[in-house]
Amino acid sequence: MSAACGWRYASIMHTDNPPQTMHMSQRVRNLKPSATLAVTAVVQRMRAEGRDVIGFGAGEPDFGTPENIKQAAIDALGRGETHYAPVPGPPAARQAIADKLRSENGIACGPDDIVITVGGKHALFMIFQCLLDTDEGQEVIVPTPAWVTYRPQIELAGGTVVEVPGAIDNDFKITPGQLAEAITDRTVAVGLNSPSNPCGTMYSPEELRELAEILRLHEHITIISDEIYEKLIYGGIDHLSPASIDAIADRVVTVNGLSKAYAMTGWRIGYICAPGGDPPFARSIAKLQGQMTSNITSFCYPAIVEAVTNSAAAVEQMRTTFAERAALIHGLLRAMPGISCPRPTGAFYVFPDIGAHFGKRSPAGHDIVDSVSFATALLEEAGVAVVPGADFGACADRHVRFSFACSTQLIEEGCRRVDEWLRSLP
Ligand code: PMP
Repeated sequence: MSAACGWRYASIMHTDNPPQTMHMSQRVRNLKPSATLAVTAVVQRMRAEGRDVIGFGAGEPDFGTPENIKQAAIDALGRGETHYAPVPGPPAARQAIADKLRSENGIACGPDDIVITVGGKHALFMIFQCLLDTDEGQEVIVPTPAWVTYRPQIELAGGTVVEVPGAIDNDFKITPGQLAEAITDRTVAVGLNSPSNPCGTMYSPEELRELAEILRLHEHITIISDEIYEKLIYGGIDHLSPASIDAIADRVVTVNGLSKAYAMTGWRIGYICAPGGDPPFARSIAKLQGQMTSNITSFCYPAIVEAVTNSAAAVEQMRTTFAERAALIHGLLRAMPGISCPRPTGAFYVFPDIGAHFGKRSPAGHDIVDSVSFATALLEEAGVAVVPGADFGACADRHVRFSFACSTQLIEEGCRRVDEWLRSLP
């Protein structure tokens, strides 16, 4: 291994160990840094060292925020909308979100059911804090492979993650039978994420209705539906919001945000919609947020209204581009030796199985035994960054995640390098 590359993904994805020079809670000491953010940091570091790296790690669109949305925030700044706002967001912004959820998603909700949060990540953090008690053995069912952040957030709130692995030949989706089997008296919540990060696949409306049919029978369970990729779909499958299914609607907390659909990752805008609960779940979230971050950046609220009411054409343009890239990268990956992966139908990820290469030694002497060693060798030898599957769930260590939030030229060149490197393996 060259001196410049004297690091590995593994070394930056570990938990912090003593010696500690300042007191640090066990909770945070045990916390794993985000694997996806770690890969981005590694790529930046290598580029700063002058290395030519193609990054398939990023979890964000490579487009700019549409002009009309930016202008709405600039205008709000000009009007002096720079003061504290109501914690859940001003009525106009919450009304716009509720209108969108009613008309596009079929969710029976009003502005009081909405809380605007500092991104979807913050929304999920607060949901788990509201749902879970420490030391109570409460379980959250997480279909895997799943986004790396669910587990740490659930564990920080004191919950236990129950992974339910989706089979690759079922596009990584879990079946109603698997769900039913995983439910216990201790199950507090089930997390759904369709379209999925990292799988790039999604449940059909019929499949979600079948899962809902199981959940209908278990009234103690809250359903958390992370729909952050709902706009980026291209496989001919319709998106269905579980909160539109009457039988479970009052137990669904829908999570969404502007990051992915409108290329607004840096703005940090998310929201929850929770029409149920007594006391209302949304009010509890707002109580927590009131002691945490208060409102989001106040001049962003008009940009939310602009995004959800007046940006469909820009979203459609991005969606079409992602659809083309999805077809391109899927075709290139499938032609590589020892690689299999379902066709991406949503979000901007593919999650191929690379396990056929385990047990090999690369020409530069790397032993490939798992997703981390595969990704490390690929990066060091071919200059291509992908996210190792390990942190997406116990079933995911045969996989790596490619994000195709980059140009077709980069996809072609990156895949050419991966293909060449794979063919160099014994
Ligand atoms: N859910 C999923 C599945 C995600 O992939 C992400 C972003 N990577 C989020 C939620 C949160 O995004 P944000 O905090 O930018 O809204």
